[in-house]
Amino acid sequence: MEKKGTLFVISAPSGAGKTTLIGQVLKQFPQLSYSISHTTRKPRQGEIHGRDYFFIDEQEFQTRIARDQWIEWAQVHGNFYGTDKAFVSEKLDEGENLLLDIDVQGAKQIMNSDLRLVSVFILPPSIEVLEQRLESRGTDSPDVIVHRMENAQWEMDQQRVYDHVIVNDGLEKAVADLCLIFETKMRCL
Ligand code: 5GP
Repeated sequence: MEKKGTLFVISAPSGAGKTTLIGQVLKQFPQLSYSISHTTRKPRQGEIHGRDYFFIDEQEFQTRIARDQWIEWAQVHGNFYGTDKAFVSEKLDEGENLLLDIDVQGAKQIMNSDLRLVSVFILPPSIEVLEQRLESRGTDSPDVIVHRMENAQWEMDQQRVYDHVIVNDGLEKAVADLCLIFETKMRCL
């Protein structure tokens, strides 16, 4: 049976400013709910279980893989991330639209499903700006930043599989661009 709601999938390399962007856009779309992911990554300072992520251990994550409880999952920068299948299915059945902030591997899994989806890739203004943002954020060690930069290059090469690409070279403009996409799509649904 076809689901009533739509998935809005957003991907970006870390440091592209996606979290801030999503926060701004969600404020303007009460009819859009955020899907909180599960991860085996340790919480960063200020992150709250059940708000930013559901923080679970690797054993729990693997058990849920074995039970087919993820609608998509991926290993990113050495940690596991996944979206709960039952939660998404229930929300879409109820006619809710869901925003998923997930990596390229996960987005491709959703693209290969029969769910109705709108996908957006957020680009940083340049690879140099991305590196500077990761360094000034101060949340990752130098070796993690190297890993994230390698992954970012690969992810940026995948932008072609997305419906829309936005360059985040100014928050206000990027928020407006993203809102326009969402507004147009929701009007058409
Ligand atoms: P961070 O650790 O910086 O919060 O996120 C790292 C990456 O994992 C980001 O690209 C983010 O979009 C991605 N991510 C977060 N949640 C999920 C998820 O549920 N599934 C997948 N595939 N990626 C996720």
